Amino acid sequence: MRKSGTKPSSFTARVVFWRALGFTLDMKCIILLGSPGSGRSTLGRILAKRWDLPLISTGDLLRTSAERIGPVARAIRQTIDSGNLVSDEMVNHLMIGQLGSPDCADGFVLDGFPRTATQARFLDGYLRKAGAGEPLVLELKVSPEVATERLKSRLQCVACGRVYNSKLWPSGHPGYCDDDGMPLVQRTDDREDSIMTSLRRYAETAEPVVEHYKNKYYHELDATLAPGSLLEIVEGILEPKQAARLAVA
Ligand code: AMP
Repeated sequence: MRKSGTKPSSFTARVVFWRALGFTLDMKCIILLGSPGSGRSTLGRILAKRWDLPLISTGDLLRTSAERIGPVARAIRQTIDSGNLVSDEMVNHLMIGQLGSPDCADGFVLDGFPRTATQARFLDGYLRKAGAGEPLVLELKVSPEVATERLKSRLQCVACGRVYNSKLWPSGHPGYCDDDGMPLVQRTDDREDSIMTSLRRYAETAEPVVEHYKNKYYHELDATLAPGSLLEIVEGILEPKQAARLAVA
């Protein structure tokens, strides 16, 4: 992580950083790809905080939709709990509402979207219309064995959605979130059969999405590294210090 005292003024840092990436200054988009259990959500929160962008997690949005009453909510709940994917149509529709919100006018970090080639093409179209440059795509790589072990002991805050792991990175007060003190629960899709299905779905659908971005602004990350090390790597990929020197020269 960037040491305190080395951080340039936040406005200059952001402008230089995004210009160096070829983004327009109107919108910036970071996409996090990776299987369930790869740590997308944890890294997403860190990156969103680091670059002051909203984090959009389609999993969280869908879980909120699933809590409503009615046949659509019930269908979403059943799909999530089984470890399968919700339809492209429904997810893209959900994303239109999110991406169009004033919060997202400067950009966003996407966790769990796009998950299919259809969703990736939909996002391309959206970014084109919004006048944004190429998104930065980060794929968190982890083996299915490590992902499975992580998912079995994953806990999530009922209020803020922060993810913990009861074995690997527990909260300070067992069973409660360090950020807001609310209870931590096991997700209903973290049962062994759902875990197997969601990892299988990921193996089936990830390749076309990765292919879609591979020749663009795409980087693989070793998801077994600690979140702090991953942030350092992302900062290194983006080379803000070098970009700052170039801008000053
Ligand atoms: P996540 O929190 O990202 O692990 O997502 C939890 C569940 O939400 C997934 O297993 C899917 O059922 C559903 N989901 C999340 N994002 C998407 C997406 N982009 N497309 C389809 N289904 C999704």
